[in-house]
Amino acid sequence: MNQDWYFVIFLLIPVAFIAGWLISRNKHLENHFKSRKNLYPDYFRGLNYVLNEQPDKAIEIFIKMIEVDSETIETHLALGNLFRKRGEVDRAIRLHQNLIARPTLSNEYRAQAYLELGKDYLKLGILDRAESLFQELIEMDVLTSRAYEHLLEIYQQQRDWENAIFIARRLESLSDFDFSKTIAQFLCEMADDALREENDKRAKDLIKQALRLDSKCVRASIMEGDLLFKKQNYKGAIAAYKRVENQDMDYIGEILPLLEICYEKTGKEEHLKKYLLDLMTKNKEQNLMKILARMIAKDEGNDRAVAFLEENMKDNPTMNGVNQLLQYIIAGTLSVDKNELIPVKELFGKLLNSSAEYQCNNCGFEVLKMHWYCPGCKSWGSIKPILGIS
Ligand SMILES: [Zn+2]
Repeated sequence: MNQDWYFVIFLLIPVAFIAGWLISRNKHLENHFKSRKNLYPDYFRGLNYVLNEQPDKAIEIFIKMIEVDSETIETHLALGNLFRKRGEVDRAIRLHQNLIARPTLSNEYRAQAYLELGKDYLKLGILDRAESLFQELIEMDVLTSRAYEHLLEIYQQQRDWENAIFIARRLESLSDFDFSKTIAQFLCEMADDALREENDKRAKDLIKQALRLDSKCVRASIMEGDLLFKKQNYKGAIAAYKRVENQDMDYIGEILPLLEICYEKTGKEEHLKKYLLDLMTKNKEQNLMKILARMIAKDEGNDRAVAFLEENMKDNPTMNGVNQLLQYIIAGTLSVDKNELIPVKELFGKLLNSSAEYQCNNCGFEVLKMHWYCPGCKSWGSIKPILGIS
């Protein structure tokens, strides 16, 4: 039997046990339970069906139960939750709809059932129904935080960023949690949409808003740099890209390829080399080292590039760096048996192509391409380039 079933049984047994114990202890309560004698036999029949993995029969019992009160509602909800978790969402919906249809159900429990039914529809991807249930909870002014959290999830799935921002602000007013970084990401998503529609002016405006909200928003700086790069405003792009250094040095590798082109276009490669050497004192990031090694190879020869890479990788070798090192050894004039090195270089090349380049700081999710939203833990801005591994 699945472990989840044990959980429901675990919930059922104490209720029945405590009931029995109380009956034997207290005459007053005995009368109370006697008046509801129809309830507990049903309960045990339901339990029996759960034990025998006959979920539909169990549901029938639960649906026909005369009363749902504080003692049995938990079991209803736990069972519904279990069905949803097992992917048997239709069964969960039946249970929850039945609860809602009960005229005697208290408002508190009705709200619980609304919330659960909303989660059922969310799981099925029927977002409009889920949305209206959560909206209803907000109108009822119960479980509002939970309802807002799910609405936020829905609007993100629908890429409805304006509503997502609205809900994030509401959640912010209900809790101490600061949503600035998340909202800045939503603004970047909107800017992305605007760029796709070739509305550069709107994109620029949204990027500015994102930066005003979260001055450390790397994504906004990169987007601004890319936009200026596209417009061939290389000086402006350089200024935007350079902000990344102070926003989050871990992302510096992301801007370097285009930054390099910007400096080439403005004819100021010497400035770039100086800037990169300065960055190297802060972080021996692999892209940084790669570009510098390439510049050194070009200006001062392959052997100098070998020395540079060996020196800088002493403590922190990377596969990328070793790959490049081999390339300059093979191309250089140092005396090594090059035939022995070529297959090693090929092997490194293969390894590099197969390994993940980015990882979520939050949950460890690995991806090959840069994403700003982690599908693993559903957080924004937590995926970073893997330093030193690739
Ligand atoms: Zn994650």
